[in-house]
Amino acid sequence: MSISDALIQMKRLNPFEIAQKQIDQCAKILKLDSSVHAMLRVPQRELHVSIPIRMDDDSIKVFHGFRVQYNDAKGPTKGGIRFHPEETVDTVRALAAWMTWKCSLLDLPLGGAKGGVICNPKQMSKNELERLSRAYIDQIWQFIGPEKDIPAPDVYTNSQIMSWMMDEYSKIAGKNCFGVITGKPLCLGGSVGRNDATARGGLYTIREAAKECGIKLKDATVAVQGYGNAGYYAASLMKSEFGSKIIAVSDSKGGIYSKEGINPETINEHKTKTSSVINFQKTENISNEQLLESNVDILIPAALENVITENNAPNIKAKIVAELANGPTTTDADVILYENGVHVIPDFLCNAGGVTVSYFEMVQNFNMYCWSEKEVHDRLNKRMTTAYHLTLEASKEYKVNMRQAAYVVSVKRVVQAMKQRGWF
Ligand code: NAD
Repeated sequence: MSISDALIQMKRLNPFEIAQKQIDQCAKILKLDSSVHAMLRVPQRELHVSIPIRMDDDSIKVFHGFRVQYNDAKGPTKGGIRFHPEETVDTVRALAAWMTWKCSLLDLPLGGAKGGVICNPKQMSKNELERLSRAYIDQIWQFIGPEKDIPAPDVYTNSQIMSWMMDEYSKIAGKNCFGVITGKPLCLGGSVGRNDATARGGLYTIREAAKECGIKLKDATVAVQGYGNAGYYAASLMKSEFGSKIIAVSDSKGGIYSKEGINPETINEHKTKTSSVINFQKTENISNEQLLESNVDILIPAALENVITENNAPNIKAKIVAELANGPTTTDADVILYENGVHVIPDFLCNAGGVTVSYFEMVQNFNMYCWSEKEVHDRLNKRMTTAYHLTLEASKEYKVNMRQAAYVVSVKRVVQAMKQRGWF
């Protein structure tokens, strides 16, 4: 479940209203002109499509899809395509807005977009999914393109779906257009370094935050909530790159704790065999709640939204909270953490490594380059480090928390691009 889905369910708020409230808050801090503020509150363009698909039983089913381009002042828009039974256009609008701010914070020459099709891929055959993927592109191909809008995988879409979509677009264009979509497999122009990009990008920001907080990463204690793509790689890299001590990890079934430290690779093998991290030799089973409040230097929420709330925020002992998950901290909890001096690396900074390496994939496709892993890591390191320091400086200058500071940096850049283009 993504941030927007959880916010709908837990707060019963429309996700787009939340995205608009966030921009309202930033407009206030930056004292934005009311007309500029009005432009930033709504998407520039959106396309709604109906997609008739012949199902395997020969019936025809009509699916509905969207593509929202939120703001392209800084460049072609970029954002994933979701296949989800509860997709709504407001979810897609909110996610497109968040992509705009994330790309801008990392200073990628890109705007933000998002797409979605209301469908349940778990109940569809591979052939039905292929027909839907191709038909969605048939409907939106004039709206997207390597210099207009570049989709990527998101909830319930993957590299196979991206391959079909790229192939369909290429057939229509009459030439190979690898650069129309990212998240492709390596054999079709995907980039090395994408698998661990989100965690690795987060790691670079943690390294900088540790310097700011006076924490030595070697032997620093770490707890990681969630042991999927983001969480596993975060635990593994914190140990292998920095020599930090991972003392607690968890997944949906619960967590484990060891004062002596846990080997992330052994735990990963155990999780593959037993489908959970729990019940591992020489570790103590703990709850996810206990993990969040454990006595560590660095806490990495890498699972769900809204796990740090006003109820447990006063008990958070970590000095750094690195948000690899989207939206793990509620607005009320944010205030408490800030007052308690906890250094929060906000989600759209901490987990921006994924979109950054997607951008690298585009650049390699445009130029027919295949960068080495080292080149990808070096470039990612540079962008994440710069974005972290700009956010930190803004938080000091405007006397706001790191999340508000990240908004300040990214919205300022979008506004500057709009101004230079003569939009106001
Ligand atoms: P994933 O599906 O690979 O892993 C999710 C993990 O969270 C699993 O280990 C699962 O067991 C665990 N989990 C689920 N419910 C839980 C619960 N109630 N308590 C504790 N753990 C629970 O997902 P992922 O790709 O690692 O994404 C995790 C978070 O990171 C999400 O918020 C996602 O939006 C964010 N994120 C991921 C990427 C990426 O590139 N993977 C990029 C940006 C943001």
